[in-house]
Formats: sequence, C-alpha cells, structure tokens
Amino acid sequence: MAQFRTIAFQEVLKRQPVKVSAPSNEVTEYFGSRVFDLVKMQKYLSKEAYKSVRQAIRESTHIDRKMADQVAAGMKDWAIDNGATHYTHWFHPLTDGTAEKHDGFIDFGDYGVVQNFSGELLVQQEPDASSFPSGGIRNTFEARGYTAWDVSSPAFLIGTTLCIPTVFVSYTGEALDYKAPLLRTLSILDKAAVDVCHYFDKNVNKVFATLGWEQEYFLIDDAFFNARPDLILTGRTLVGHQSSKDQQLDDHYFSSIPERVKAFMEDFEIEAYKLGIPVKTRHNEVAPNQYECAPIFEEANLANDHNQIIMDLMKRVARHHNFRILFHEKPFAGINGSGKHNNWSLATDTGVNLLSPGKNPMGNLQFLTFLINVIKSVHDNQDILRASILTAGNSHRLGANEAPPAILSIFLGTTLSKILVDLEQNVPNNKMTPEEKTELKLGIGKIPEILLDNTDRNRTSPFAFTGNRFEFRAVGSSANCAASMIVLNGALAYQLKAFKKEVDSLIEKHNLKKDEAIFKVLRKYISDSKKILFEGDNYSAGWKKEAEKRGLSNITSVPESLAKYLTPQAKKVLIDNGIFDERELEGRVEVEYEKFTKKIQIEARVLGDLVINHIVPTAVQYQNKLIENVKGLKDLFTEKEFKEQASHRLGIIKDISKHVSIIKSKVTEMVNARKVANKIEDEVEKAFAYNKTVRPYLDEIRYHVDKLELIIDDELWPLPKYREILFTR
Ligand code: ADP
Ligand code: MG
Repeated sequence: MAQFRTIAFQEVLKRQPVKVSAPSNEVTEYFGSRVFDLVKMQKYLSKEAYKSVRQAIRESTHIDRKMADQVAAGMKDWAIDNGATHYTHWFHPLTDGTAEKHDGFIDFGDYGVVQNFSGELLVQQEPDASSFPSGGIRNTFEARGYTAWDVSSPAFLIGTTLCIPTVFVSYTGEALDYKAPLLRTLSILDKAAVDVCHYFDKNVNKVFATLGWEQEYFLIDDAFFNARPDLILTGRTLVGHQSSKDQQLDDHYFSSIPERVKAFMEDFEIEAYKLGIPVKTRHNEVAPNQYECAPIFEEANLANDHNQIIMDLMKRVARHHNFRILFHEKPFAGINGSGKHNNWSLATDTGVNLLSPGKNPMGNLQFLTFLINVIKSVHDNQDILRASILTAGNSHRLGANEAPPAILSIFLGTTLSKILVDLEQNVPNNKMTPEEKTELKLGIGKIPEILLDNTDRNRTSPFAFTGNRFEFRAVGSSANCAASMIVLNGALAYQLKAFKKEVDSLIEKHNLKKDEAIFKVLRKYISDSKKILFEGDNYSAGWKKEAEKRGLSNITSVPESLAKYLTPQAKKVLIDNGIFDERELEGRVEVEYEKFTKKIQIEARVLGDLVINHIVPTAVQYQNKLIENVKGLKDLFTEKEFKEQASHRLGIIKDISKHVSIIKSKVTEMVNARKVANKIEDEVEKAFAYNKTVRPYLDEIRYHVDKLELIIDDELWPLPKYREILFTR
C-alpha cells in the first residue's frame, strides 16, 4: 500500500504546467460566445420572438407556445451553428451540484433524419425524477417531476450540449430544487422593496438582489488525491497529522501564484468568459494550496447559475491540469477551511444601489432605511440564516477554529455604528425641516463621501457591511448560494412589508409626516435589534460569553440548527410570506436531515475501512519489525545491557499496541452506534442520533491514527501526508 504513496509522490515531482491555448482574439470579443444572449437572439430570432423574450425577462411575463416554438427554433440554429448535437434542461436539485439529461436534436422527419427542437421541449421536460431527493414530497405513484424554462437566465453551450436553465418541480407543483424558491423570493423582495422605495422615489419600478460570490477552494495533485480513499469518497481528509509548517507564517496569502496553478486558473477563466461569467479576481488564500476566485457581481439568480456552472467547470478543467479541486469546507484539519462569501445588495432599475450611502440626506435616509431593515431582519432571523448555511461540511468551520463562529452578528464599521447610536438617541426637534433634522441632529448629512472605500474591514465577522453591500461570510464553499439567498431575500422582504405597514399606519392614524414616521420606526428597529451588532473579534472566546449575555443564539449542531426551519418565526418568513407551502418546507428540511445523516454515515464507513484495512495492518507490520529487533538485541546482550538498549523500542511497541487496541474498540463501538441509529425510521431523530452517537467517533479515532502517524516508520505509512499534499509543487 505504501507503494501508492511512493508512486503518487514520484508522479507529482514530474509535473509541469500544462500549456493553455488562449484564444487569439481579445476577451471583449469572445466573452459570452457560448451564451444565447440578447445579441445572439437578435440575430437568430424574429423581431416578434425577440420582443417577447425581452419582455419576459424584464417583466417576468409568460411566453406563449407559438413564441416558444420560434425561440426554440432560433436557439437550436444558434446551438447547431456552434457545434451542438444535444440539448438538456439544466437544474439545481437538492443535491450537491446540478443535474442534466442530454437528448439529441435528431428525430425522424418525412425523408429521413432531421434535427428538431420544439417550443414544447424548450419550455418543459419531464425527467425521471424519482431518484432526486424530495423529502417525502414525491410518493412513488406521483414520481414525475417537471423542469420548466427559466427565461431570466440565458441558455449556454457546454461542449456539444445546449444547456437550458430550468426550475424543477414535482407533479403536484412543489419546488424540488434551489432555483424555484430563489426566483420566488426575488420577486417577493422586488415588490416589497419597490413599495418602500416609493417613499423616496416614485420612479423605481423594479428592485434586484445582487450577488457577488467569492469562491474559495483547495487545489491538490491528482496523484495524491487518488491515493487517499477519504478524499475520493468524502471530499475531506478523515485522518492526517498536521504538517510541522502550514499557515503559521502567513506566507501563502496573496503570495505569487504557482505556475501550474496559474495555468489552471487561466484555462478555466477563458472557458468562464466564453460562458459569460465575469470572473475578475484570483489570488492565493491563507492555507497552503488554497485559492480564491471572484467575479463581478450580477443579478442574484444569474450570479448563482454562474457559480454553479463555474464550480463544475473548475472541476473539469482541474483534471486537465492533473489537479483535483476540493470544494469541501474543511478538507484539512488544523488549517483554514473554505467559504463562499456572498456579497449581497439591492439595486433599482433606476441604477441606485440601495445599500450605498447616498450623497444627500434624503438619499441617505433611503440608505439608512434599507440598512436598518437588513439589520432587523438578520436579528429576527438569525436561526434560519444559520440553518441555511450550517451543513455537515460547514459544521467543521462554523464554531470551530480558524472560522466564523456559529453566532450570527453584523459588523458595520465605526462610522455607521456611530450614526446608528446617534439616530437611536436623538429625538428630532419638531421645528426643524426634515433636511435639518437629518443633517444637524443625526449627523446623517455628514457621512463622508469617501465612506465607500474607507470602511474598516472585519474578517472575523460572519455578516459584514463592506461599504455598499453586505458580505455573508459564513456560507460554505460547497454550498448552492440559493440556500442562503432564499432566507436572506425572504427575511428582508418580510421585514420591508412590516416596515411599510408600520410607517403607513403612523402617517395615516397618527398624522406624522413621512420622514418623521420613518425615523420613528427606524429608531425602534435599532433598539430592538442592536444586540446583533458587533465590531470586535468574532473568533475570540470573549465574544461567545458576550453573545450569550446578549441572548444571541449559538448553535453548532446541524440537526439542532435545522429544527429552526420549522419554528413559528421561520414559518412567518418562509410560509406566510409566500416562499414555500407547509409541505414543501417540511420536505426540504427532511432532505437536509437526510443529507446530514448520510454524510456522517459515509464518513464513518470510510474511516472504519481506512483504519482497519490500511492503518492498523501498517502499525502491526512496523510493530513486528521492532519485535524482531528487540529479539535480536536480547540474543546479543546481557540481561542488564538489553534492558538499557531495548527500553525505547519496547516503549514504542507498547504505544502501538495501546493505540491499535483503542482504535479497534472505538471502531467496533462506532459500527454498533451506527447500527442502532440506522434502525430509527424518523429522519429527524436519526440525524440527531448520528450527530450525538456516531459523529464523535470520527474525531476520537482520528486522534489515535494521527498519533500512530508520528510513531510509525515513514517508509511504511500508506497515505500521502499533509506536508506532501500541501507542499509538494
Ligand atoms: P474582498 O475579498 O475584499 O471581500 P473581493 O474583490 O474579493 O473583495 O470580492 C468582492 C465581491 O463583491 C466581488 O464579487 C464584487 O463583484 C462583489 N460586489 C461588489 N459590489 C457589490 C454589490 N453592490 N452587490 C453584490 N456584490 C457586490
Ligand atoms: Mg475576498
């Protein structure tokens, strides 16, 4: 077995950067060349069909069947002109990743084979959906699922396949994916935000949520990956002693990008540009072999599609470069894990970023209105926000070392924090004009214009204001952004509706002027929710205590956190608000419980195999070598000399026995715990049981394996070590 490790090591030493063949023209020319965007639609569609698609995108209207036929024909022509032979509906089921089922364009015509693609096929498909998770929504007798075209995200070409972004719903209309509810929240938020915007500007007709994700990842050599069954099957290392040097010297962050990695980045970025994905930033992250890529932000639904496409793309391109990409939140213990920061804001169709401090007081009042409503909605919905991001993988980050805590808090920066304190405390003088009130009393007019680039940063905050947007930093690297976007958008929409109701009632029933009414409500919101604001070090032990005093929740257990999806507050935001119906929400939460259980189950199985079939035999082999040696010493020396000579080796022999017996008995206990948990039928109870009775063994067993790694002859150790995986280049 140690052979694999040696072979892997030799392979890696031979690697050279793979040559990237860049297009000969400029990026401005090939950007979006693989996307059926408006420019191509204009070329391939009739005026009428083009108009109806544009309208459908802008106003979320429906496209009738006749138009759909025309659009399908144009789309097919474009795809075939670009080498396509197949098409697929492309969707986001509740798994890790996207799904596709390819069909050829070929069909029998009157005179032989033709290439066909009708409006019907474009608009709707019925994939055999019975094998996708649904949390009991789909019984076998209604196993059908439908995918339906999402006009707002353009079709694109991967290889020879035309991919059509779609939602995925059950026969009875429940959403079985991430996209359908995301689209619902975007439209609910649009309406709620437009209503609030009308206090300030009647010209606003549409509000978009914007999303700019920062994707962190590890890149390791293919050969090492293939010599580690834990990486292959679980995406993370279940054993492995820390390398003597890892990230202590902070010498990886922003350092020069290694040649092989740079070639990989250039390669996938070129492909991303062709797919219209505006990737912009690339750099080394904190941990060795950890990197990041970030695009220019876009409308949230499109941005999320782009994130899903690029994750897939990165996986494929990595293989060409003899790399494997790891999107797991914590592939290596003891060093930083990977997140996916979701930069999020709201933009109007009049071109205003609602979370950007304006230049005049009225503009600022609009900004403060949205800012404070976000704060209130995060405060009121900390538990579902956490539930939307706390998965089996991300639980190794949140609340653990080198990562945001499982406590939700908001960082605002000194300037804004002070403005909120003033706003809460100052009662506007009734003789003043609204402008004077805001400028003099509240200091709002004095927000310096440089605020935008001058905000302080707090890299430990799970939810930080960064000048013109919030950055939800606690999201896991493997996540579908929609999971957290659904909750974030939904919670804010709910909050904005409540805000409008309160303000309107103050105006109508209590005769308050509009600005006064708004200030009054905002002031109350600040008092109600200021305990979620925290400017200090979120990683510190002190914050945990402080947060507890403040009454903020701190949940690190995945099943416990998931339970919060079904509290009365969650139901107000997720059901009453029109995002899910009861069955959909329950089904979805059940899927999450199942996913958690299965991940722990797989990890437990892999670890069992790894230690019993790889580690223990190696330990015994080395122990035998030592025993031989001791026997030899005994033959050579007198009793007294022998004791002196052999004592060190005897100690190691005993240590190995100790660790091996503990490992063996712990594995047996773990297997038994699994058996007991597997008998539980209820998915919720089962997840709780797995978390409480199986999961702890993963760390307990690992501890002893990692100790053995330090004792056993390096020649014999079967698995590539951390120092090799993270430092051989
Ligand atoms: P940092 O690492 O300093 O947080 P990056 O440049 O890595 O910053 O990433 C910032 C991300 O925020 C980019 O994806 C950027 O497009 C995005 N972003 C900027 N403005 C907005 C906005 N108004 N809405 C959403 N995302 C935004
Ligand atoms: Mg960044």
